Amino acid sequence: MAAHAKCSPSAAYRWLECTAAPTFEEQFPEVAASDYAREGTLAHSICELYVRREFVEAIPKRTFNARLKKLQAEELYDDEMLTTAEVYVEYLREKALGFKATPFVAPEVRVDLTDYIPECFGTCDCVMFGDDTLHITDYKHGKGVPVSAIGNPQMRLYALGALRLYRVIFGDSIKRVSMAICQPRLSSNVEEDSMTVEELLAWGESVKPRALEAFNGPGEFVPGEHCRFCRGRERCRARADEQTSLEHFKSFVAENAEPKPGQSAILTDAEIGDLLKRGAELVQWYTDLQAYALGAILGGGVIPGFKVVEGRSNRAFSDPDAALQTIEAAGYDRAMLYDYKPKSLSELEKLLGKKDFAATVGDYVIKPPGKPTLVPETDKRPPYSPAAVDFAEVGGGGA
Ligand code: SF4
Repeated sequence: MAAHAKCSPSAAYRWLECTAAPTFEEQFPEVAASDYAREGTLAHSICELYVRREFVEAIPKRTFNARLKKLQAEELYDDEMLTTAEVYVEYLREKALGFKATPFVAPEVRVDLTDYIPECFGTCDCVMFGDDTLHITDYKHGKGVPVSAIGNPQMRLYALGALRLYRVIFGDSIKRVSMAICQPRLSSNVEEDSMTVEELLAWGESVKPRALEAFNGPGEFVPGEHCRFCRGRERCRARADEQTSLEHFKSFVAENAEPKPGQSAILTDAEIGDLLKRGAELVQWYTDLQAYALGAILGGGVIPGFKVVEGRSNRAFSDPDAALQTIEAAGYDRAMLYDYKPKSLSELEKLLGKKDFAATVGDYVIKPPGKPTLVPETDKRPPYSPAAVDFAEVGGGGA
């Protein structure tokens, strides 16, 4: 795998805010590709194969199956990757049908971003050109953090790279760019953003100075939500200073210590909402510190005031079969010792395959309402509705 660019497009949301981050991060070792990252790479390869078959080349069934089988033999393969690849291709198919004439389609396009960021290249998962619009789609396999396409700097940088590449072929007939993020494990809706070529180019010019500052260093430390995935997040003094300065809480700590005349001693709901927002980064920072300290102590280091202990654990048989046989031999009825349990819905679906499962028992599948969960207002899910939940419970479940 190629070494990461110092200022990568996927981290642009961070270095555009904190230009010190890329240089600061260089002091901390790159974490080896996690299983999640390798899983993502495999899912991308499957998506690419599907896109090639759909738009680029007439792959004979046997060849397609052989290529797919090779990918399915990978350790991290999961059947869900076929479903998500289908969702991705379905989105692209619909997109392609929306153009007046058959669009040009290219998967996995390497783009040169050095006009904007030194030594920077990227890969567009799919580029489409039709009518007057260059359309870039990024597939994201992760389901931990939803990624929005709106105003997304990574997507805009990819679009700039694609524009540079395809303007040579399509010239000024490219008038608009649209950018989409397909994150099928989180949502079947694909979010899109769009702008004119002039707007995109102007945005590119506006980020050039910050990209240079971030690349050349030392840059300016600016902590914020974007610290979350920074390699230096646990050891960054600027972040620690920010979180311990109580700047975020000033109005509450300093002023609410003694309620001002006419001010209630009881926090209002609006203030609690505000505090929850202000505290989110503090909680995240503390969690990062805990993870760092745990790793440091396990690695032989010392974090004054802390130690690592064994967490709770449950008793278990060292050899469950032998233990149960012994109980049985002691005169207990076998039927008393075992529960006869059906496989879970997911296990049965895996066993039957998605299609057969849907055809055989799809009518019995319900999705009970999830537990009420507090999230920021910006979360894409619709608000929890107790009335809808009551109805779903009476009516036997939702979609
Ligand atoms: S932790 Fe935050 S403030 Fe510190 S370098 Fe990283 S992004 Fe910048």
